[in-house]
Amino acid sequence: MLAALAIPQPSVYPKQLTMSQTSQTHTLTPEQRDQLRSLASAAAEHSYSPYSHFRVGSALLLANGAIVTGCNVENCSYRLTSCAEQGAIARAVAEHGPAIRLVAVAVANLNNSASMPCGACRQTLTEFGDDSTIVLYPGENGASEETTLGELIPHAFRLEFLK
Ligand SMILES: [Zn+2]
Repeated sequence: MLAALAIPQPSVYPKQLTMSQTSQTHTLTPEQRDQLRSLASAAAEHSYSPYSHFRVGSALLLANGAIVTGCNVENCSYRLTSCAEQGAIARAVAEHGPAIRLVAVAVANLNNSASMPCGACRQTLTEFGDDSTIVLYPGENGASEETTLGELIPHAFRLEFLK
């Protein structure tokens, strides 16, 4: 009976990265940037945000080439609201397995607001990304901005600290 409940063996998880191994480089073509931003905006159309009316979408480019989207889903308790990035991560793991790695993350909103991933999402993305994971986000006055996860969350808490 317990065998049926067995958790996956650790080997299904990506090899634990050390700080020095997180400096790999990811690149995107202009077409990939446009596609990710466009898909993030499209996902925001599905946002469930009756309280904030802040409609957010996210698109993840995985190392296997797949793109997975998510949107924010609010809750009347407020604190159970989930962000677009977190929804996308959960969906990516469900669809592509626990070894996913993030090449890039795009966030968009339909409110014409500048916005970056929140602190909680930065930590969530760190679980599957690295310092060079590209983050595309809307800046001030409609500007398309770009940074890296390492810039957004320096000194992140990482798996390697769990000893
Ligand atoms: Zn968030």
